[in-house]
Formats: sequence, structure tokens, C-alpha cells
Amino acid sequence: MIDIINYDKNNIFAKILEGKIPSKKIFENEYVFAFEDINPQAPIHVLIIPKMPFCSFADFLKRANQDFMSCFFKSFDDISSKLNLVDGYRLITNVGKFGGQEVPHLHFHLLSGKIIGKMVSG
Ligand code: AMP
Repeated sequence: MIDIINYDKNNIFAKILEGKIPSKKIFENEYVFAFEDINPQAPIHVLIIPKMPFCSFADFLKRANQDFMSCFFKSFDDISSKLNLVDGYRLITNVGKFGGQEVPHLHFHLLSGKIIGKMVSG
């Protein structure tokens, strides 16, 4: 089962941040890295990750300091502006087993390019 209590520094997104695994970069600054999802669920499917080792959104809420939180979320405006998402988008973050989280490094899915549809399937 996925461990989102202890950060696994060998997880795939940690390796992307280290440049050890290739990714298609959309945006980067001091706080955030955004890249294309390898298995897109919409015409635009970008993953937004912090450049700090948080296992999940729950972990981020507990451990991130206010400045980092603020700069991290402010970056979402830069990303949506860069992608010109004038018709909107959906943001999703999965946490743990019930949330369906597969990669144990906090990430937000940004989906757009079409009407995304139902909130939850199945
Ligand atoms: P989650 O289920 O919320 O943990 O989402 C993990 C996401 O990471 C999935 O949408 C995968 O398609 C995506 N993913 C896994 N490996 C890679 C990779 N190497 N590059 C880009 N996206 C990836």
C-alpha cells in the first residue's frame, strides 16, 4: 500500500525534480514544477508539484510554512495564465488510499481543454 506518512525520496516525481527522469515541462519557478501527465485524461492534463518533499496534500497542510504555501499556490495563477485557461479548468489532488493516490509526492492534476464532466465516476 502507498506510504504517505514517510516521504519516499525515490518516488518518481522526486526523480523528475532531480532531472533523473525526463518530463515535459510546462512551468517552473523556485517553488513549483509543472509538467504533462504521461497518461492524459483531457486535452490539457498537467501535474503541479512542490519543489519540497511533501507526501500528500495532508502532509503539506501539516508541515508547509505559510510563505511556502502562499508562493506555491500563487504559482498556479502563473501556470493557468501561461496555458491561457480562459474557459476554466479542474484541479484535483488525491490523498492516500481512499483518494486513489498513486505517487507519494504531493501533486495537483490540472485538467482542461474540454468540459471535464462528472466529478466522480464509478
Ligand atoms: P495519482 O493517482 O493522483 O497519484 O496520479 C499520478 C499521476 O502521475 C497519474 O495521472 C500518472 O499518469 C502520472 N504519472 C506517473 N508517472 C509519470 C511520469 N513519469 N511522468 C508524468 N506523469 C506521470
